[in-house]
Amino acid sequence: MPLLIIAIIVFSPLLVALLRTLVLKVNLKPQKSPLQAERIENALAKSAGKTLAKAVSFKTVSYPNYNQTDIKAFDDLANHLKDSYPLMHSKLEKIEIGYSNLVFKWEGENRELKPALFLAHQDVVPANEDGWIYPPFDSTIRDGFVWGRGSFDLKGQMIAICETVETLLSQNFKPKRSYYIAFGCDEEVRGKFGAKLICAYFLENEITFEYVLDEGGVVGKNFLPGLKENVAVIGVAEKGDLNIKIKCTKEGGHSSAPKNPTPIATLGKALYNLEKRKMRAHICKPIKEMLHTLGLYAPFPLAFVFLNLWLTKPLINLVFSKNSTLNPLIRTTVAATMAKGSEASNVIDPTASAILNVRLLPSQSSQEVLLWAKKRINDDSVTVEPLSDTRRSRISPTDTPSFNFIKSSVEAVFENPIVVPYVMIGGTDAIWYEQVSDCVYRFSPTLMSGEELKRIHNANERLSIENLKRAIEFYLTLIKREVFV
Ligand SMILES: [Zn+2]
Repeated sequence: MPLLIIAIIVFSPLLVALLRTLVLKVNLKPQKSPLQAERIENALAKSAGKTLAKAVSFKTVSYPNYNQTDIKAFDDLANHLKDSYPLMHSKLEKIEIGYSNLVFKWEGENRELKPALFLAHQDVVPANEDGWIYPPFDSTIRDGFVWGRGSFDLKGQMIAICETVETLLSQNFKPKRSYYIAFGCDEEVRGKFGAKLICAYFLENEITFEYVLDEGGVVGKNFLPGLKENVAVIGVAEKGDLNIKIKCTKEGGHSSAPKNPTPIATLGKALYNLEKRKMRAHICKPIKEMLHTLGLYAPFPLAFVFLNLWLTKPLINLVFSKNSTLNPLIRTTVAATMAKGSEASNVIDPTASAILNVRLLPSQSSQEVLLWAKKRINDDSVTVEPLSDTRRSRISPTDTPSFNFIKSSVEAVFENPIVVPYVMIGGTDAIWYEQVSDCVYRFSPTLMSGEELKRIHNANERLSIENLKRAIEFYLTLIKREVFV
């Protein structure tokens, strides 16, 4: 009898989970957008490709030190946009904010409706020519792609927005709600002179938005083994970015008579412990929602795991923790990135210091991380001090009219992918705009493979004309098919 009881205790949850999986999957309705996508001619996409290629040629690199910025490159890019999109520049109100930012307002018919805000950024990360097939700032169009730094991140999205507005203006189209468009100048270095100032303008003028759409997730091919559908991921939050200085102070002296462990060795031990003993895993709401939706479509073993987190959470934690791509989705990560010790090989400097870059889950505060680090290090000779910190991201809801509308537009344009929310592990300008809207979403309307995504911030970045076409169709669908208030 006890054996039978043990068997019931062990197998009942499994049976419940199994039945739950079967019921959920049987009741799954096929994904179909209620919207019809706007489509454009190939010729328009081709001409947008040429405008993008030229936009890539301006070296709008942003640097942490603003003095290094090539202001002329930004001016040239702005002039190029002005020449390419004359209607947009003559009919929309241009708002001057800071320097090198491009902000427009397109007045809608119904002033009762809250406006929406489309974001992109003009700046790019640096690129030397190593490993590039075509030079990074050369305006190359080859094999159906625009090649070069910024072609994907994020001049492509910027051109798609401009092309959409210009097309609609040429048709004398008037939008229902007003749209603001903001292209910041320094997203890659945290938006201090771009998004921060632009957002301050909106706050000052009490302008809030129905929704904000910035760069972010894409429609991914081959997202999961055994899943035939493409998967569109829409960022509803982003991880925070905190730098911590870890410093060890001890006795220094000549290296011929060392008092071991030296400050560097003590610091090394502290850093090793922080990296090895990871912070606690936590599956936050968007990731739970993502796994649940994927579970509905995934083949059986994965479906069982994703649809029954109440039972399988330890397994998810274990598998995700061992994978460097998945691990950041379930926990705050730490990485030692910089270190400093003595200036000479035979001198033991009394201090050694290092910088730890921390990427925080939206649910975690910097204070919690600092306390955790102090506790883990547990050594009086080592101090922990916060340096630069970003805002703490809020999770935008997925049960809003605006999220559902964006989801339907993605389904229409990209032919019914599975649409899921997620948390972006990188930072974007969007984090600033959480002050002026409850609904801040992060999505780059393109269909990409994992291989293609590796080119971002890397050599051979490129964007296909086909993807530029889809991006324009996506924004056209958003503006023309708007059905919610
Ligand atoms: Zn970007």
